[in-house]
Amino acid sequence: MSTFSLDPGPDQLAVRDWLHGFAADVMRPAAAEWDEREETPWPVIQEAAKIGVYSLDFYAQQYFDPSGVGIPIAMEELFWGDAGLGLAIVGTTLAAVAVLANGTDEQIGTWAPQMFGTPDDVKVAAFCSSEPDAGSDVSALRTRAVYDEAKDEWVLNGTKTWATNGGIAAVHVVVATVDPALGARGQASFVVPPGTPGLSQGQKFKKHGIRASHTAEVVLDGVRIPGSCLLGGKEKLDERLARAREGTKRSGGKNAAMATFEASRPAVGAQAIGIARAAYEVALDYARTRVQFGRPIIDNQGVAFQLADMKTRIDAARLLVWRASWMAANNQPFTSAEGSMSKLYAGETAKFVTAQAMQILGGNGFTREYPVERMHRDSAIYTIFEGTSEIQRLVIARAISGIPIR
Ligand SMILES: Cc1cc2nc3c(=O)[nH]c(=O)nc-3n(C[C@H](O)[C@H](O)[C@H](O)COP(=O)(O)OP(=O)(O)OC[C@H]3O[C@@H](n4cnc5c(N)ncnc54)[C@H](O)[C@@H]3O)c2cc1C
Repeated sequence: MSTFSLDPGPDQLAVRDWLHGFAADVMRPAAAEWDEREETPWPVIQEAAKIGVYSLDFYAQQYFDPSGVGIPIAMEELFWGDAGLGLAIVGTTLAAVAVLANGTDEQIGTWAPQMFGTPDDVKVAAFCSSEPDAGSDVSALRTRAVYDEAKDEWVLNGTKTWATNGGIAAVHVVVATVDPALGARGQASFVVPPGTPGLSQGQKFKKHGIRASHTAEVVLDGVRIPGSCLLGGKEKLDERLARAREGTKRSGGKNAAMATFEASRPAVGAQAIGIARAAYEVALDYARTRVQFGRPIIDNQGVAFQLADMKTRIDAARLLVWRASWMAANNQPFTSAEGSMSKLYAGETAKFVTAQAMQILGGNGFTREYPVERMHRDSAIYTIFEGTSEIQRLVIARAISGIPIR
């Protein structure tokens, strides 16, 4: 087990500095333009691929770093650069984590590289769990997966919504129900390979924030995929379903979508911290230089205390995220839902800090001349996706009480 340390060590610091350079030199100058265009920033993703920031190798290295802080450090720097571009660059990793969490070694080896493509032919991937009638309540998924034994194929039918990279992805990972009577325990994850007939993009959403990241519906109409595309394999699924039907405890409350979310929550918290830190830095700088009543506005306790609170919350959020990331990397059980705690606090912090930053910038904060307006819009998703703040509180409350609080 790696000792919990707040010193990332020379390797992680070098990665941090390298990513900071990319965030400052490539992402920041492009952020406002792609926010306005509301399109996938392929040139920025390609640039990231060229230097290895957008690559399976890079994420695998960070993911398997025993200190656990490789991924949070990377996420914080990229999202400090810009959240919309950041999500366009890292959106693929949610699908990659789904394959990593649920797939066999062979499946990981087959599909993970195809999700990223190559620097000359960049691809993205999508993770499709949410549906119009199943957002927070993942047990209510209606997308059906039916096994065609004669052909050893699975047939998927249903409509997914809110999928990051949905419809533009090479590889889609789809969570579907195999046995609706079992609720969340009757679900499984499937890979839909590139170019599979029957999968199409539905509506693309126009959003409040993270507008450079593509979010769309995905329609699955008689999508036929090989039996080998069931993540984890049929034998494991059959065993799991049999246990669930017997109602034994061993099948646990854990399901395919939840396995993905558990692994990714601290990383999402780190993204929120990146946005918060960026807004705080702009506000601190502004407060030092903006003069009213003959002195810099930071000379007023009212403003200085706001900045003190902002910085304190950012650092507290980072401590929670690093703890949860270290626990996950070292197989420590989240007995108090520490992963959810980190995402809850970091998401709420990003909203708080960006709102305060707007306030400190006064009228300028409300315009697109300054970046905090965009950061404030971007931060709002962090109390909604990957489990809303209310759902995180539910998960924490259940973990600490042992009571199935509703
Ligand atoms: C930009 C964006 C990108 C996304 N990317 C993806 C993706 O890549 N893949 C994917 O599968 N999904 C994705 N999502 C979906 C996201 O995870 C869901 O929006 C989220 O889980 C909330 O679901 P919902 O929108 O249906 O809200 P609802 O579940 O309808 O919730 C509405 C409100 O009710 C509250 N609520 C619901 N149930 C309870 C309860 N039991 N107790 C207290 N409060 C409750 C919620 O907290 C919320 O405030 C994305 C969403 C967005 C907006």
